[in-house]
Amino acid sequence: MRLILLGPPGAGKGTQAKILVEAFGIPQLSTGDILRSAIAEQTPLGIAAKEIMDRGDLVSNDIVNGIVSERLDAEDCAPGFILDGFPRTIGQAEALDGMLRDKGIKLDAVIEMTADADVLVGRVINRAKESNRPDDSPEVIRKRLDIYKQDTAPLVEYYRKQGLVKTVDGMQPVDQVTAAIKGAIAR
Ligand code: AMP
Repeated sequence: MRLILLGPPGAGKGTQAKILVEAFGIPQLSTGDILRSAIAEQTPLGIAAKEIMDRGDLVSNDIVNGIVSERLDAEDCAPGFILDGFPRTIGQAEALDGMLRDKGIKLDAVIEMTADADVLVGRVINRAKESNRPDDSPEVIRKRLDIYKQDTAPLVEYYRKQGLVKTVDGMQPVDQVTAAIKGAIAR
């Protein structure tokens, strides 16, 4: 099972990815989590990415493409994976297509999680209280939503052309979203 979870910040991609990891026994590949670990460990990658992430901007395609390409080669990804937060630009999606082609594998589905922007701002601000994420402030979350609309939302059309998109209402309670995702994959 090779999946992409696509949706704006706060739509619940991370929450659903963690549930699907348990259900399908495949790893979650979150570029955001990998970058946050790099920051915590103060690696050169983390040091380079921190300021960009704190402002809510996207780190360069080269950096995230490299992270994902390397991660996809790990043994635990052989049975499948759930990409969460990658790709985020058409350039990244094209790079991913190239990686998958080189590895001789294909995506099974792209789950588009829809969500209302106003609700998202509230959700992310709530998350900030627990997560300690510097990029969860109201100003930065609005910027991340704008970047989503501009750079990432076009991926829905990109993957629709490949016949991969399944749309799920991300505003439902968590277990209903999970059920909708599982149902969409099974169809
Ligand atoms: P996330 O945890 O997915 O919301 O990502 C948090 C931040 O990490 C984003 O706002 C970006 O600064 C950075 N980031 C994560 N994934 C990507 C990506 N695929 N491309 C560029 N930047 C990313």
